[in-house]
Amino acid sequence: MFVFNDIKNLQQHLLTFNNDKSIGFVPTMGALHQGHLSLIKKAQEKSDIVVVSIFVNPTQFDKPEDLVKYPRTLENDLKLLESVNCNVVFAPTAKEIYGDKITSKSFTFDGLEHQMEGKFRDGHFDGVGTIVKRLFEIVKPTNAYFGEKDFQQLQIIKKMVENHSIPINIVGCEIFREEDGLAMSSRNTRLTDEHRLAAPFIYKTIKKARKKFKKNAPEKVISWVKKKFKKHPLLKLEYFEIADEKTLKTIKKKDDDKRYRAFIAVFAGEIRLIDNIKL
Ligand code: AMP
Repeated sequence: MFVFNDIKNLQQHLLTFNNDKSIGFVPTMGALHQGHLSLIKKAQEKSDIVVVSIFVNPTQFDKPEDLVKYPRTLENDLKLLESVNCNVVFAPTAKEIYGDKITSKSFTFDGLEHQMEGKFRDGHFDGVGTIVKRLFEIVKPTNAYFGEKDFQQLQIIKKMVENHSIPINIVGCEIFREEDGLAMSSRNTRLTDEHRLAAPFIYKTIKKARKKFKKNAPEKVISWVKKKFKKHPLLKLEYFEIADEKTLKTIKKKDDDKRYRAFIAVFAGEIRLIDNIKL
């Protein structure tokens, strides 16, 4: 496994492969878990070389303390990547990516950026767009893999490659969960024992909401979920929305030919958890 911190050496290495070799790319912020590894596995099925980036991108954090406290476990990450036969790791510094000016560019994603996470995390998707576009330009992959765990992000990246005519195939990957249903996330390691025990309530509730959605209007399902969380002593609901998968706009009534998903953001103490489910 080759590990690079600088762009020049990474690109030189990638140049040594023939043009006919496909590159699968998995961008991450590190603190790797089985969810990340499932993306790598999927990348290995379709690509000759798999490149994983590890970079905690400062411009996508809306709260400075969240950036400071974000788990960083590079040594362990490298061991994990080696164990799954990852070919190339790119772990740059912020200076290597941004130079002296750590700022994001401004993006429009045809309105996708104003829904859900966009409402609650100021500037988040400008940060995501900036780093993913930059990494795409550096790595120039054939395929890039993103988790449905961050479904809005996945749709936004698809929109970005479409709007900017970037010749990369974006592949969405299913949400990988703990045995108790909690969606795997690097942030889970920051949960207190008490909040960790409580957190599976999120997936349990959205699974019940999916069942209710079959026979009830969206509004009814939403107020049921809100009520459930109001009664919960440890988890605080930030939003629960039922939206069209394509536009991410919330819906008032169901249409047979559209696909819907429920999206949720919850605070477990100071840790913010997100999840979603196909309806
Ligand atoms: P992160 O390191 O959290 O930025 O995540 C890097 C990539 O892994 C993103 O495309 C995430 O959507 C994806 N990912 C994170 N957690 C999961 C999970 N539990 N299941 C599937 N994909 C995930």
